[in-house]
Amino acid sequence: MKTPAQPSRQVRRAQVRQKPHAQNPDAEIQRRTDEIVAEGKAKAAAAAATITHATLTDAELAAWRQDMDQRLQRIEQNQDQNLGHIEEELARATKEPLRLLAERAAQAKANATPCQCVHCHRELSQQKFLSRRLDSRFGSLLLWRRYGWCEDCGEWQFPADHALGLGRQAPASPYLQELSALLVSKMPAEQAVLVAERLGLDLSRCFLHREAHRQGLKAEQQRAQAVAELDTWEDIQKLARYSEGPPPQPFTLVIEIDAWNIRERDDWGQTEASRKAGKKLERWHWVYLATVFRLNHRGQTAGERAVITERGFVATRQGLEALTAQLHREAIARGLGQAQQVLVIADGAVWIWNIAKERFAEARQQLDLYHADEHLWAVANDLFGRSTPEARAWVAPLLQHVRDDQTCAVIASLKELKPRLQQAEQEKLQTQIEYFENNEHRMKYKEIIDARKACDQGTATQEQIQLANQPLGSGAVESTCRQYQCRFKRTGQFWTTAGDEALLCLETLWRNARWTELYPHAKPSCALN
Ligand SMILES: [Zn+2]
Repeated sequence: MKTPAQPSRQVRRAQVRQKPHAQNPDAEIQRRTDEIVAEGKAKAAAAAATITHATLTDAELAAWRQDMDQRLQRIEQNQDQNLGHIEEELARATKEPLRLLAERAAQAKANATPCQCVHCHRELSQQKFLSRRLDSRFGSLLLWRRYGWCEDCGEWQFPADHALGLGRQAPASPYLQELSALLVSKMPAEQAVLVAERLGLDLSRCFLHREAHRQGLKAEQQRAQAVAELDTWEDIQKLARYSEGPPPQPFTLVIEIDAWNIRERDDWGQTEASRKAGKKLERWHWVYLATVFRLNHRGQTAGERAVITERGFVATRQGLEALTAQLHREAIARGLGQAQQVLVIADGAVWIWNIAKERFAEARQQLDLYHADEHLWAVANDLFGRSTPEARAWVAPLLQHVRDDQTCAVIASLKELKPRLQQAEQEKLQTQIEYFENNEHRMKYKEIIDARKACDQGTATQEQIQLANQPLGSGAVESTCRQYQCRFKRTGQFWTTAGDEALLCLETLWRNARWTELYPHAKPSCALN
């Protein structure tokens, strides 16, 4: 398509025809040029305004066919080229006709959009026609659309942009918005550039980075709306009903909570100055993470690895209050209201149990068994040297006590040991004693271990079969932490507070299978609905 911005032949002819003006020849030439450009634009705008549906002309179809034939012929003649070359060439040959169709389809949609305020639906005043360029899956598109002023809302509006899902200041089409969000939340932008290139998309690092950030902010907004559903009792009821589905079998809802740290740097270039001013620079910050699932959605692979088929995630760098609100919302959506029993599993961190007490008061609390083991191993290693036979011999009966729900015996053994140690070691041991004292009521593992044994022996009751599936530790949330860290905690990587939260939010939206709430076109069957 001819673009009205480059009427070069006409302009050149006009420039030649023009007699040099006595006063200021350059100004006269410029005036004529502007006139012709304006004329060209007006023609293009008028042509765009008439498009009601997208189609290709016979000439365009013929050109496409010829181009495709030539490409395929070259591959046929070349012995070294395989199906991969065919795939590449066909995709390239098809790009231009698809670009034309996309441009015309978007134009038809823009033309059909009433020029009304998107908030109050009032007809806009001072209507004008303006073009914009945008980047799409098939390349650059030119779009003309009406805009106008809403007297009530006091703002200029482009209703067609809104209808087409376009951002006000950003050139990305909805597909490129989604793709930027997806790629950059999975990998650093400089890698995303190369992956995008292999997908046939020429996107710069800057484009991907900016667009992904913009999408992250959109995801945060959507999350804030979701959390706001907890503001009234009616809304909570609605959310609980929404998650209900068919009446469920009695189930246990498991909530696992953990945290990991992320490195941030919001003070680029000011490090020295801040240090000199005696300011302590905090670079590491907590990202709080939780996962929620129904116990009957937890199973085992043939290799006896635990898998959870359906689960919710929460991740935030915005502090405990944010985590608590988001987690509560996720738990309600996953059936908190219908659960027969709620089980919170975590390591010994005090803040976790505070959240459990505040929001899940009825829940049973369970300390991660493997963290308890680690604490005993720490004492053993201190006393007898790292993993020595003596350390192993000392720790073995204590690990067994833990599995037998005999935490009091563990505490007694540690206390007995105390008078024999030096002052500094006594203090260290006291910390461990307190750890077991504080968590004693959360250390009930025997029933689960017995149930697993009974299952292995084939003597399990129905109740034991269910119990055997209960996790002993918080491995589900720990593996999730590791997965997030693969993206957010790479060597040499620094984040900004705004940057990491936006991407964490996108990644979580994806994991929660709510991606299509932000990108309705990503629903595979959208054309059928
Ligand atoms: Zn309005």
